[in-house]
Amino acid sequence: MNLFKRLFSEKCPHCHKTLETNQSNIVKGIIIKACPDQHFQKEFHPALETYISSSK
Ligand SMILES: [Zn+2]
Repeated sequence: MNLFKRLFSEKCPHCHKTLETNQSNIVKGIIIKACPDQHFQKEFHPALETYISSSK
């Protein structure tokens, strides 16, 4: 689960705050991590083993 650990230690590239996870999305098979100030969002799709990152 190294990938999972890494996912939970990431920070916003803009303000370096720790990204927050919306736990409800884990149920849907998608983990969304976002900056609390909405600079940056990253979706992780375990089924596809891929990330989708976006800056705002
Ligand atoms: Zn930020």
